Order: sequence, then C-alpha cells, then structure tokens
Amino acid sequence: MDAAQFSLTIYHLFPDLLNLYGDKGNIAVLTKRCAWRGIDAQVQALTEGQEPDFGGADIVLLGGGSNREQLLLSRYRSVVAPPLKEYVENGGVLLAVCAGFQMLGTSYEADGEQIDCFGILDYQTVSGEGRLIGNIAIEAELGGKRMVLAGFENHGGRTKIGDLRPLGRVICGFGNDGESGYEGVVYKNTVATYLHGPLLPKNPELADFLIHTALQRKYPGTFAEGLSCLDDSAEQAAKNFIIERELKGDNK
Ligand code: GLN
Repeated sequence: MDAAQFSLTIYHLFPDLLNLYGDKGNIAVLTKRCAWRGIDAQVQALTEGQEPDFGGADIVLLGGGSNREQLLLSRYRSVVAPPLKEYVENGGVLLAVCAGFQMLGTSYEADGEQIDCFGILDYQTVSGEGRLIGNIAIEAELGGKRMVLAGFENHGGRTKIGDLRPLGRVICGFGNDGESGYEGVVYKNTVATYLHGPLLPKNPELADFLIHTALQRKYPGTFAEGLSCLDDSAEQAAKNFIIERELKGDNK
C-alpha cells in the first residue's frame, strides 16, 4: 500500500470551550505531518450539544480551558463520558491537554467549587495556592522511545494520579502537582499532560507517536518500521533553546 491509501480522522472535542493556549496548533501539526507523508487527515469538531460518537475517530484531542468553561462542560458529562470511556478502553488515541487532562479524571475541586469531570480515569484534581506557571521540560518514554518533551504550563489545579503511569519525570517546571516530580498520565493510547504552548509544534516525536499509533490501530500490520522521517531540525532547535535557557535559569 502506498501512503495515499491511508487516512486518519481527528476529532477536536469542544473547540468552542476548550481552546486555550493555541490548542488548534496541535491539530495543525498532526494534519501537516500526515500531509507531508501523503497521508490524508480530516478534522471534525465536536461541540457541546452534539451527539458524541467516536466510532469514526482515529485521534481525539481535548484542549485547555478556564475553570468556568470546565464547569460548563461538566454538564455534558453524562452524554460524553460513556462513549469516550469506550473509545479509550478500546485503545483509541487521545491527547488531552491541561483542562482536558483534568476533565479525564473524576473531579476537580476548583477554589471550593466542585466540578464533575468525565471519570474516564481514576484521579482527582484540587486547586492549590497560586498557579503553577512557566516553561517545563519532562523526560518521557512512549512506544519504547525515550524523549524529552517541552512546553508551557499554567494551572491552578494539582492532579494526583495515584498508581496510574505518569507521562514523564519533570526535568524543570512543576508537573502534576508541583511536588511529586511526575507529569501527565498515560493509559493505553491516551496521553494527558499539562504541557501546552501548543504542545506538538515543539514535540514532533509525540505527534508522530500519536499518528503512528492511530495508523497501526486502524491498519493492523502496517508501519512496522515506523513512519517515514521528516526534517525536524527547526522544531528540535526551538525545543532545545527553551530547555537550555530554563536549565541555565536565565529566562527572566
Ligand atoms: N482551569 C484549569 C486550571 O487552572 C486548567 C487551565 C488550563 O487549561 N491551562 O488548573
């Protein structure tokens, strides 16, 4: 099969509510990296009020948002949580960023206000004193590959993931709760993280992990050798610049 015979459908969940910090940039990276390889990628937005059906989804994205928007979204919980849980349990590829990360858990206590989250994974978020803001770098391993991921974090919530597997270890920055040294969570083919900025432009290896996993799930037995290589020198230079500046501590 040549690449033109492959196609992926990306669902952008609630772009009207969860769209903080350029989450659309993550979609642009996924579609572009597919297009550069001759793989067709279509994007579908799912907005509040629509009947969610993840049957046609190959990659699902859930972005960042304010507490107010998360509260609005929580009213939609009973409609979205069952099909989303089924998608996740069946190994669907999902990237959830910041508020999206929090919404996958069971609850978010935001400055005394209880927000019912989707309960896809068993963890909780509670807001703490002050926001955890700044550049962050983590060491992660996905699909057997070690990678350093960089992004920006800005969250009031502290997330305790219990025994679940974190996405990575914090090299610099705060991470899930500012004290555990862990960042994000990985469950089956779901990756949730506080890193945004947006996340994928600076982290092409994560974008490729999502694309590759989605292709292998949709077309079993294909892409055993991985995806064709792209020139990521500009992306890596952007990432390294941030990491080096943070580690040197001269970012003021
Ligand atoms: N509203 C959440 C918090 O403040 C998430 C923020 C975000 O998505 N950046 O913790």
